[in-house]
Amino acid sequence: MKEGFKRNSRNFLTEEELKNRPKVTIKLIKRVLSYLLPYWKQMLLVFIAIILASIFSLLPAIYTGRMVDEGLIGKNLDSLIKFILLAFLVTVVANLIKVLESYLNIWIAQHITYDMRNSMYAHLQAMPHSFFTSNNQGDIITRMTSDISQVQQIITNTLSSIISNVMTLIVALIAMYQKNWILATLGIIIVPLFVLPTKSVGKTRWSLTRETQALNDRINGILNETLSVSGQMLVKLFNREDTELANYQKANFALIKLKIKESMAGRWFRVVLSTFSSIGPMLIYLVGGLLLINYDQDLSVGDITVMVALLSRMYNPVNSLLNIQVDWIRSMALFTRLFAYYDMDPTIKNCDNAIILRQTEGRLEYDHVDFGYDQDKLVLHDINFKLNKGQNIAIVGPSGAGKSTIASLIPRLYDVTNGRILLDGIDIRNINIASLRQQIGVVSQDTYLFNSTIRENLLYAKADASEEEMIDACKKASVHDFIINLPLGYDTIVGNRGLKLSGGEKQRLSIARVLLKDPKILIFDEATSSLDSIAENAIQSAISSLIKERTSIIIAHRLSTILSADEILVIKDGRIIERGKHEELLIKNNVYTELYQTQFKEALYQQ
Ligand code: ATP
Repeated sequence: MKEGFKRNSRNFLTEEELKNRPKVTIKLIKRVLSYLLPYWKQMLLVFIAIILASIFSLLPAIYTGRMVDEGLIGKNLDSLIKFILLAFLVTVVANLIKVLESYLNIWIAQHITYDMRNSMYAHLQAMPHSFFTSNNQGDIITRMTSDISQVQQIITNTLSSIISNVMTLIVALIAMYQKNWILATLGIIIVPLFVLPTKSVGKTRWSLTRETQALNDRINGILNETLSVSGQMLVKLFNREDTELANYQKANFALIKLKIKESMAGRWFRVVLSTFSSIGPMLIYLVGGLLLINYDQDLSVGDITVMVALLSRMYNPVNSLLNIQVDWIRSMALFTRLFAYYDMDPTIKNCDNAIILRQTEGRLEYDHVDFGYDQDKLVLHDINFKLNKGQNIAIVGPSGAGKSTIASLIPRLYDVTNGRILLDGIDIRNINIASLRQQIGVVSQDTYLFNSTIRENLLYAKADASEEEMIDACKKASVHDFIINLPLGYDTIVGNRGLKLSGGEKQRLSIARVLLKDPKILIFDEATSSLDSIAENAIQSAISSLIKERTSIIIAHRLSTILSADEILVIKDGRIIERGKHEELLIKNNVYTELYQTQFKEALYQQ
């Protein structure tokens, strides 16, 4: 779990936070305000509510003085009751206003986070594939979820508590100075003296909290690894249940020890502190008494009581305001982090006046294509080939040669580093991305299925497909019979990532999904795992329906696909080192022959 921003959990900055202090510029503040601006009317209402609530909640303290002077010392019961009732009434009003204020506050905060989440999600969807392969998935999710939720906390807690604390202090100080300036000044000196030491306790607690968090992360790690589908399988197969349990128990025990220590940290200190903070009122009584008895005739007992009551109301606001700087820096750091995400450039995007390709002819050409995932290291070198409508090319080569990389450039998961890829003679960078991808179907080795029904997974390719179309696609992909024999047929849930299906079934489903999309260009990464002859036949007929009349690039692992290809490209270290038909390549007695001997021939026997 990421180190989170929790109000009041830490009233100081950690070394890391101090080192990474955000640069607060006018531009940053303006940008933060731009999110608040649409809600200025509601914010104004909150502001008014806060002022009213602060005044109303201090009134009972002031009435206490009148109760003492007029009611108790003056022995006037009517007056006593009157002020008790008044104090009760204003407390009720103050609380009602506070309810309204928090409702408005939450409403605004939720709406702002709603706006931010939507725009962040849209932004992330626009990020190129490389962003997702090079960023930790956990980080991306954290930005989307907890970081944006903290914005809500900043608005509901930080912002409104600053206004409310400042207002409470102003109202209290005005009331105190009206009564007696000496006692009021004494109050201003006393309060911070008792509030400041709490910071050091906070630090001890925080280091314990961090330890707890680290341990929690470890426990989550253990749970994630050992209770996941594949993890559990490993545990079972290696008989590691007892060791894993012992591991878990150890971490769990360490956690409770830390938790107890954490809850007790600073308890003693706080006891001493609260004893001392009761000295504050005593000092007011003492100085007030001295003034009352020796010097100032105007000061009443009630006034001194009011002073003490107001003083006790000031501790909390002063405490919070002393931490403003911390909250401020943390909030700005959070916004800076979020904005950095918003500002990432979606490098693969539509160019100006991008051509919308309604229906491609299916002519594909790689023209001197170089590509590197990193700027300084090319993975593909000078790739050239041409495919006319309906032709298919088989790409073969050792693992890591760059076969999948070649295929991933067509739907622009990545852009070429040098050279160009042409579709119908148009550079694909000039084609509207959505319309380009509409023309392309991909069947990858690792089929991704959502954890929903077979039907929903199929319709992902074409939401408005009819039942007949869907069934037809499944028949062509030789998977219909399998589906209808399932108890729930097309409404069977496929399980997490399709784990309830075999590799061959998943691949045939994925073929059916692409048939439903009916693209003119096909990229097919054949599964390497060998299948039994029935499954092999099923796949074979599925593949024939798939590549028929489509311009296809097949990363081939099976001899039959290679034999029927219009051209075979042999890739090694990112270069085309041999090309031609099967017989031509075999005669050369080179890399292809070697591959044939080691991989395809074996596959041939299995067929
Ligand atoms: P296989 O048959 O094993 O799937 P392949 O021929 O398809 O291999 P590619 O997946 O295209 O090989 O990989 C080509 C090279 O690019 C490899 O060296 C690989 O490590 C590297 N590579 C692949 N994907 C990435 C990525 N997202 N970021 C950086 N390098 C990558």
